[in-house]
Amino acid sequence: MSHPQRAAAFISDAERTTWHDETLWFVRQKRDKAVYGIPEFQQLRQLASDIKAHTLSRLDEYLEQFERNAQANGVTVHWAADAAEHNRIVLELIRKAGATSLVKSKSMLTEECHLNPYLVKNGIAVVDTDLGERIVQLREEAPSHLVLPAIHLKKEDVGETFHLHLGTPKGEKDPQQLTEAARQHLREKFLIGEVAITGVNFAVAETGAVVVCTNEGNADLGVNLARVHIACMGMEKLIPRTADLGVFTRLLARSATGQPVTTYTSHFARPAEGREMHIVIVDNGRTRQLGRPDFRNSLKCIRCGACMNTCPVYRRSGGHSYDFTVPGPIGAILSPNIDLHKHSSLPFASTLCGSCTDVCPVKIDIHAQLYKWRQLIGEQGELPATKKLGMKLLSSVLARPGIYRLGGKVAREGLRFLPHGLTHAQALNPWAKARELPAAPKQSFRDWYAAQVK
Ligand code: SF4
Repeated sequence: MSHPQRAAAFISDAERTTWHDETLWFVRQKRDKAVYGIPEFQQLRQLASDIKAHTLSRLDEYLEQFERNAQANGVTVHWAADAAEHNRIVLELIRKAGATSLVKSKSMLTEECHLNPYLVKNGIAVVDTDLGERIVQLREEAPSHLVLPAIHLKKEDVGETFHLHLGTPKGEKDPQQLTEAARQHLREKFLIGEVAITGVNFAVAETGAVVVCTNEGNADLGVNLARVHIACMGMEKLIPRTADLGVFTRLLARSATGQPVTTYTSHFARPAEGREMHIVIVDNGRTRQLGRPDFRNSLKCIRCGACMNTCPVYRRSGGHSYDFTVPGPIGAILSPNIDLHKHSSLPFASTLCGSCTDVCPVKIDIHAQLYKWRQLIGEQGELPATKKLGMKLLSSVLARPGIYRLGGKVAREGLRFLPHGLTHAQALNPWAKARELPAAPKQSFRDWYAAQVK
């Protein structure tokens, strides 16, 4: 299904759509307040963008430096060319540890690689320990947002889920009670977790350490209680020096939720005595994106979610309508790189208003890249037949002023005299599904202008 088809299902619940829209706009406003609180915010954005551009320009060198330093710290480094290899490596490590269960803090990379279903199929019990992730995991759904995985759900939905899976009283919807129930439930899982998987927000080349940012402290608890820590990272997560880290941590939380900093910023450099630490570095299409000059900048993304919170299309169509691990404007740039045919409708899920570009803390030219993908999709024949035909018709009309004028006249007269049910029939005019056409003017601008000149 294309994005508009999946979005139609979300929009059919008008009340939920409005609520989703307003909730994310509230997060966007919190971001604005936090941003205005530091006068040097724009300089920080530029600096972060420059650091990332520099790192990407020497990614091979920084990756090797990171590997050398991590190995010197006693960490085992693994390389995975794609999702399948990543999953195989993780499973082997779990089996080697003799474990049958694990706890996992939020990691969009493992979502991207579909690690959970792979491990479950191989007899490993996986518990996501981030609250939002656990909620969607219990519901067997995918996260719908990078930072707020269960943002598509209301507290009543969460209450129902917890009633079914955790035995909370039916109808309980008090967030404090629900959070406490989740806390008790997860605490048990932490205590039996033999292996802990975390994502990686930043990997520091000069030290070989990885940095994980959470608000719940679940990554720390998981790692400190388990014998084996596996950190899964996309190869673009590198920054050169520890001194660069502060630039990104100041931007990340402010852009994501409007907090000055995430509650926990945890540094993992080496395994504790008698324990193991592994880092799996994953490509999965990233080097291909690096090789596309028009789209290379998308690898600067620090997954803050700000472009989603501001996007009028994302806010009104929901994260699941993108059918890709990373939804929203940045997902619409990353997804065609993975599968152009499958995701060819996503770069069109944008008004090209540029609000995503304005809020991006690492200054990715998101809307310009969306526009470039549209051109490539057209060139590669991936546009739907109706759009191709429409474009052909439009270009032939626009190239012939006489036909254009005649078309305008016919449309004006038609709108004045044809019945509303016909001009707004959804099969003929999908544009009018949720909109009213303006009253047709009596004359065209061209006629009006000629009359004024006379
Ligand atoms: S593209 Fe920019 S705004 Fe969007 S998630 Fe990535 S860093 Fe944040």
